[in-house]
Amino acid sequence: MAPIQPKQDQQEYDFIVLGGGSGGIASARRAAAHGAKVAVIEQHGVLGGTCVNVGCVPKKIMWNTASIAEAMHDATGYGFDVSTQPPKFDWAGLKRKRDDYVHKLNGIYDNNLTKDGIEWFHGKASFIDSHTILLQAAGGDEVTLKTKRVLVATGSHAVIPTLPGASLGIDSDGFFALEHQPKNVVVVGTGYIGIELAGIFNTLGSQVTVVSRTTHILRQFDDTIRENLLKEMQNTGVNFAFNSHVTELTKQGDGRIQVTYEEDGKSKTMQTETVLWAVGRVPNIADLNLNKAGVAVNDKKQIVVDAYQKTSVDHIFALGDVCGLYDLTPVAIAAGRRLMDRLYGGDAFKDLKLDYENIPTVVFGHPTCGTVGLSQEQANQKYGKDKVKAYTSTFVNLYFGLLDHKQQTSYKIVVTGPDEKVVGLHLFGRGSDEILQGFGVAIRMGATKKDFDNCVAIHPTASEELVTMR
Ligand code: FAD
Ligand code: NDP
Repeated sequence: MAPIQPKQDQQEYDFIVLGGGSGGIASARRAAAHGAKVAVIEQHGVLGGTCVNVGCVPKKIMWNTASIAEAMHDATGYGFDVSTQPPKFDWAGLKRKRDDYVHKLNGIYDNNLTKDGIEWFHGKASFIDSHTILLQAAGGDEVTLKTKRVLVATGSHAVIPTLPGASLGIDSDGFFALEHQPKNVVVVGTGYIGIELAGIFNTLGSQVTVVSRTTHILRQFDDTIRENLLKEMQNTGVNFAFNSHVTELTKQGDGRIQVTYEEDGKSKTMQTETVLWAVGRVPNIADLNLNKAGVAVNDKKQIVVDAYQKTSVDHIFALGDVCGLYDLTPVAIAAGRRLMDRLYGGDAFKDLKLDYENIPTVVFGHPTCGTVGLSQEQANQKYGKDKVKAYTSTFVNLYFGLLDHKQQTSYKIVVTGPDEKVVGLHLFGRGSDEILQGFGVAIRMGATKKDFDNCVAIHPTASEELVTMR
């Protein structure tokens, strides 16, 4: 299956989606299911966007790979002699298999659009006016398409800082293109991407230095997660340069990169094979000619939308990373499905919108950490410190009982009011990614600490601590 060419200039649609990623595809399919005539325009020759091609999916495969390396390391503690046949890891071979898997997903997306009667065009989209889209097709042809409504779901891309030699570094797309595992890596940035990719490199045996412009990591998370993950990363061999700013990259005679940086105001250097920039992402709007349609953006170049994903133009909508509210795949999908139900699903859905509160999210570190709701600090600010209480539990998971390495697990439940309504849950430790989803449901339903306590524990698990905490 492949993208098709528009049959004629000025072809008319009910709905055109700009961007064939998580939000765009989910929206297109839901609109088509309601009977709308839909087209999707995607600039790359494959569907799936960031998540499928250079995000969640290949990242989780790399995280799984690293977790297998961890398990092999832990195997000794459980009586296995792994020294007689040291297992070798074939990075290039894994990459080929990972790429094949992603291509398979591209095909599934393609089939799904075809099955749903959605036309998808390979090319770059931009506005001519608010009802007219210019499609610059991959082959060079230009076609205009007319539409009643538009969804902008063009996603985001990594920021590369403007400093001398910056292009010697790679971003997360470059991480997925690596054919060989670097012996050493400098990761700049301590958000989701910096921490996740530093964890994968480190667990697979690369020597990693993380550069943070502050004294901490994962700024927006509760300190239970921030402090415990930092300690664990340091315990497992990751170096950190805090209060540090990279000022220049230069290529050395031996092919390595020299990183010049200022740490606490002092100029220092280090040599490395690879530099990974993970200093945030910006919306993909540069090519869209949003001004021709009258779509407003804010000072971060994010498209401004109301609670119903409507832009400054009544029939133009936007969601996902291009709006920059919660850059997560399920958020883009959930916003899109609700929007399509509201626009095309009839009266039953007329007020439907995504509630952006209590969205669970996980950082795939080693171990994983997950959070839903407010950090203790945010709860203090919202409700007042005297009205907020935190229950915490820090312990060693039974898994580590037989191992020399005693990784801590740490949980925090943040509650407020006399009925102790749970307003935040923060998990650090093995399995947090899988534990959090169910607790996310409970918190959305308004669970109190007593509801947690009333649930009988499952033993022996780590998560039983969440229903036995005092
Ligand atoms: P995208 O999926 O990026 O889709 C936008 C599409 O629009 C792209 O395919 C792009 O090519 C296309 N496009 C852009 N401009 C044009 C144009 N002018 N014309 C035509 N097409 C255009 N989220 C999670 O929930 N869990 C994770 O584990 C996770 N891991 C991640 C790991 C990494 C390394 C990265 C970078 C992101 C990760 N994310 C994760 C975030 C997630 O991938 C994004 O939030 C999600 O993909 C956003 O969906 P979207 O539809 O807004 O944009
Ligand atoms: P984040 O916003 O999470 O982190 C950016 C990091 O870069 C922060 O540590 C920030 O520091 C630092 N930074 C910003 N500017 C500079 C600078 N000029 N110099 C040095 N450091 C700088 O962005 P990411 O790119 O890591 O991830 C983008 C989004 O993708 C995430 O917000 C998340 O929504 C999504 N994502 C989700 C994942 C998941 O669900 N597991 C995985 C990966 C990505 P400071 O903290 O000081 O501001």
